Amino acid sequence: MALEEYLKKRDFSKTKEPKGRVAKKFERIFVVQEHHASHLHWDFRIADEGVLKSWAIPKEPKNEPNIKRLAIQTEDHPLEYANFEGEIPEGCYGAGTVKIWDKGKYELLEKTENSYVIRLYGKKLNGKFVLRKFPKAGRNSWLFFKVKE
Ligand code: MN
Repeated sequence: MALEEYLKKRDFSKTKEPKGRVAKKFERIFVVQEHHASHLHWDFRIADEGVLKSWAIPKEPKNEPNIKRLAIQTEDHPLEYANFEGEIPEGCYGAGTVKIWDKGKYELLEKTENSYVIRLYGKKLNGKFVLRKFPKAGRNSWLFFKVKE
């Protein structure tokens, strides 16, 4: 895992986003950032493999079971990004406002090449959630939803 794509897309003399690096040790946390960019979306990120695995969700995630949300996998972000809020300047990648929408710890229940099963401990999202590849909708497409228990 590396952050090459993340670093390549950003000019750190212009944006206040963290530079960061791949971590050896990390806590299993998740964050959802409401991102008012050219299109409003929610960035869902979980700490895994020393980085934040990241997906852009075009519609607000729901805490009710079985409401499936399309989630487009994006480049891995550094762990420090979980604390980032603020303005990404005009002309920069992802220009617009970033606000933390939800954040908390998570538990990794199951992981395969095509899926994550996780338990989220957030204020808005809590319980068992699934992220599963959904290639019908495109190469980087996944589905994100809560599971009824
Ligand atoms: Mn975004």
